Amino acid sequence: MKQVRQTLQKEVTYNTLINMMGHPTAEEVYNAVHENFPHISKATVYRNLSSLEEKGLIKRVPKLGCGSDRYDKNINPHFHAKCKNCGKIFDVSLSLNDNVLKEALVMDDKDFNLSSYQLIFEGTCTDCRSKE
Ligand code: ZN
Ligand code: MN
Repeated sequence: MKQVRQTLQKEVTYNTLINMMGHPTAEEVYNAVHENFPHISKATVYRNLSSLEEKGLIKRVPKLGCGSDRYDKNINPHFHAKCKNCGKIFDVSLSLNDNVLKEALVMDDKDFNLSSYQLIFEGTCTDCRSKE
């Protein structure tokens, strides 16, 4: 029974994230879960998010500047743009395959073994610009 309960709680966590807009923090996912399932603990939601990420079902967006890590239901390769004013995060698609990147890179350390990279765009979002 314990196994069944754990699986159901993980499903609830996953379905909640899928139905949320944007890139919520673990805290925001927990708050949304809590509205419908007040018996599921915060520790469980946090643990489920980590486990879903390990399984590749969701992605974790490391904190951009200040704030917390965020979770992303969009598991396709993409980058992020952050609004400098409100902190909102937007998806950015950019076709940048590894060969193009390697040709464009000039590194100080010629033998540096590149294993991953992050690319973060910053600017001001449409909402914030319309209030200017
Ligand atoms: Zn903004
Ligand atoms: Mn995203």
